[in-house]
Amino acid sequence: MFSENKQSPTSWGRYPKVKSKQVVPLFWRSELPDLASFDGSVLPYGYGRSYGDSCLNDSGVTLDASRLTNFIAFDDQEGLLKCEAGVSLANVLELAVPRGWFLPVSPGTKFVSVGGAIANDVHGKNHHSAGTFGCHVTQFELLRSTGEHIICSPTQNPELFRATIGGLGLTGIIIWAEFRLKRIVNPYIDTVSVRFESLDEFFDLSAEFEPQYEYSVSWVDMLIGEPNTCRGKFSAGNNNQDPDLAKKPLKKSKLPLSIPFDLSPALTVNPLSLKAFNELYYHVQVQKRVEKTSSYEPFFYPLDSIHDWNRMYGSRGFFQYQFVIPFEDGRNGMRSIMRFIAKNDEGSFLNVLKEFGTRKSPGMLSFPRPGVNLAIDFANRGPRTLRFLDKLDRVVEDSGGAFYPAKDARMSSASFKKCYPEWDEFQKYIDPKFSSTFWRRVTGEEKSSVLV
Ligand SMILES: Cc1cc2nc3c(=O)[nH]c(=O)nc-3n(C[C@H](O)[C@H](O)[C@H](O)COP(=O)(O)OP(=O)(O)OC[C@H]3O[C@@H](n4cnc5c(N)ncnc54)[C@H](O)[C@@H]3O)c2cc1C
Repeated sequence: MFSENKQSPTSWGRYPKVKSKQVVPLFWRSELPDLASFDGSVLPYGYGRSYGDSCLNDSGVTLDASRLTNFIAFDDQEGLLKCEAGVSLANVLELAVPRGWFLPVSPGTKFVSVGGAIANDVHGKNHHSAGTFGCHVTQFELLRSTGEHIICSPTQNPELFRATIGGLGLTGIIIWAEFRLKRIVNPYIDTVSVRFESLDEFFDLSAEFEPQYEYSVSWVDMLIGEPNTCRGKFSAGNNNQDPDLAKKPLKKSKLPLSIPFDLSPALTVNPLSLKAFNELYYHVQVQKRVEKTSSYEPFFYPLDSIHDWNRMYGSRGFFQYQFVIPFEDGRNGMRSIMRFIAKNDEGSFLNVLKEFGTRKSPGMLSFPRPGVNLAIDFANRGPRTLRFLDKLDRVVEDSGGAFYPAKDARMSSASFKKCYPEWDEFQKYIDPKFSSTFWRRVTGEEKSSVLV
């Protein structure tokens, strides 16, 4: 997404605000520009669904890869799909679902590009059973600023493969990628939703349901205080196996709602509205446990039904704060973190809690690792929010937490280096022409030029 003058790519959190020197759309994979000829550093950009500054390159050149949208090959027997990197996951679903295939892993929005999914090594509701998106990538082509086109796979240039998965767009432009889809019988999901009353109950439900269900995620209300710490809804699902349902046409999704202008967060996101929303959402499900079969869209992409929902946080934008803490101290650590947030009367409508599984992420800088992870939105109220988040970082770090670069706009250089000890090894694979606002910030090369 670009702001009105087309020169300023934005991220989903709309913070920080930066200005590109030049935005270069890439249309044809056979006619790509000479990257070395650009004045300044370059960075690929997909659909700007990263929340912070990992997709931004202040004062540099933005290579808009979202126009590289051709499918190249599809092996219907093996489920192997080869497409250009700007193809969106929504486009993949349109092609694959009617043919009995599904994404191997999907984030909570389908409006991301294949290139972006690889560069952040995204995870989804099936992390505990399928790992990250990168686990399913078989090969891709990388264009470097030397003009070389390099094929990378687990066996061909394996180190560059590992650096590019989760490599934040810094190792070159992914031109096309091939990855393995997952067989489905029909596009429906058997879901179960269970209300839980406490953090302990969340952990108990995860232990009970994750071995039986491929997908799981929880919404949590952290503003209820002690002794229960949080309450919420645990949702799990499996692909439905009834061949007859394959013939049942999917309901046409309703016209998406959209937020046409920036709202004022003082009105929409305040302690009163947060408490009221959480109370209402928790009680919408009257029974303790509800089971149903639904089409895949509302299960995987509830937020995609409201376009531009990020405008709810106003023009100053917001921070999504996502971290994972190891299982060893999971219960106590998460309890301290949630207490800290509640004590400060901060929080959001959309708090997502989930356990990651143990499948190793393939990228040098991949975020997912075994543990319990929480994602929270915080409206940007200026220095006050930044001060609060700095303190929260310390509480998270005390529990051995790691932050997610795709969501980050402010972690310190020291935090980054601690969370990603392979960062130094990774540097060897960065294309010297490539850089980002995120990278300069977390390696301490530059103080961020952010506008609060
Ligand atoms: C509502 C919502 C829900 C989300 N849920 C999840 C979730 O559940 N799990 C999760 O992991 N993430 C989630 N995300 C984050 C999102 O999936 C990632 O940030 C994703 O990488 C965005 O893809 P994009 O195409 O928009 O890329 P951008 O945000 O534009 O770019 C992301 C990175 O990819 C690089 N890049 C883009 N294209 C290329 C290319 N062709 N070659 C090389 N590098 C490239 C960029 O340089 C940048 O570093 C969510 C985001 C939103 C808005």
